[in-house]
This record gives sequence, structure tokens and C-alpha cells, in this order.
Amino acid sequence: MHELSIAQSILDLLQPQLPPFAVLQSVNLRIGELTGVDADSLDFAWRAVLSAAGMPSAQLNIQIVPWHVRCGACGHQWRPNRADTTSLVCKCGAGPVLAIAGRELEVIDCHVEIPDNPDAAGVPAAAMTE
Ligand SMILES: [Zn+2]
Repeated sequence: MHELSIAQSILDLLQPQLPPFAVLQSVNLRIGELTGVDADSLDFAWRAVLSAAGMPSAQLNIQIVPWHVRCGACGHQWRPNRADTTSLVCKCGAGPVLAIAGRELEVIDCHVEIPDNPDAAGVPAAAMTE
């Protein structure tokens, strides 16, 4: 399952950067429509990955980025119709068409909450000595 490895990669990216005792609240993503990532499947996989890591649930906010192309000759930009290959020809009739959006898979940011008293939040005392 493609989405499961993506969800794990997101967690692997974020986890080392979380401040001590921080509780992940939400993550904002931008995903291009050409990636083939299914937002519902990714959300499901994200919950599974957090659960497997023993972490509380955190919201996954997914912004889908539509496919856009630019004409290499005249610079015209448009959104092609995926079902119609003729929509990939620029109105100027020339130039290679370059994808400029739609392949993203980016973590924009995340929000965390840091408890006032980490001890009260159930963090083992051993984790606090270092
Ligand atoms: Zn053109």
C-alpha cells in the first residue's frame, strides 16, 4: 500500500524534529493530483502509523494541488483535462509542455502542543532525566 509508506515517511520526517514532550496535533500537506495518492487512504494509513508508534491521533490536513502545465515556447499556463490529450497542446501550437504543478508531496508544517507539566501528561520520569 503506497499510502502506508508515505504516512510512515511523514512520521519519520517529523518525529526527530519534535521538541521534547511535544504532542503532535496536526500536519498540513500539499499533494499533487498526479501523484495518485488517495487522500482517504493516506488519512487511514496515517492513523495506523501513529497508533503503531504509540502516539495519540493527530489531524492530517491534505491540500490537493491541481495539475498545471506551461508552454515552453510562449509561457502560457493552463490546467489540462486529464481525459483529453489534445488539451496538452498549447494554443500557440508550439513548444514542449512542462508540468509545473501536480507532482508535489510536501509537508508544509505541523502543529504541536507542549504540556505545561510533562510529568502529569504521562511521560515516564526516566525520559525526563538527561
Ligand atoms: Zn505556447
